[in-house]
Amino acid sequence: MSGSASVTRFDAFRLARQGGRLSGTFDARRLPNVEDVLAPGEDPVPIAWTLEGRASEEGPAALAIGISGSVPLLCQRCLGRVDWPVKQDTEVLLAADGRELARLDEASESEVILADRPLEVAMLVEDELVLTLPFAPRHEGNCPPRP
Ligand SMILES: [Zn+2]
Repeated sequence: MSGSASVTRFDAFRLARQGGRLSGTFDARRLPNVEDVLAPGEDPVPIAWTLEGRASEEGPAALAIGISGSVPLLCQRCLGRVDWPVKQDTEVLLAADGRELARLDEASESEVILADRPLEVAMLVEDELVLTLPFAPRHEGNCPPRP
């Protein structure tokens, strides 16, 4: 684990100005909106995350969110466990207030998030993970025989 693994919230605009990078690992079983769709078990499900601030002269401040790992899901065909690889990189724009949020949302294809206060790492990782997971996961090809 990196030295910043204990970071739980951060100032996104400052990270963007500094071009800073944070990283760490989360247990997906501890993210309430993800826990529901995981195959039951006690084993931790580590998701590695990185947050990278980006600022440009031209555009608004942005945050690159990266997640990677493998999550156990339930196959919708045989109800067995499928280990689903996760690797997602997304860039979101940062809005300082509601007005800027509306303006950026209109002007850009990218997702815009309100960063008028420190952001929660867990919330960002959870949102990304929820968007990445398939609605109806299945084993590729044939399902393995039940034990
Ligand atoms: Zn299956």
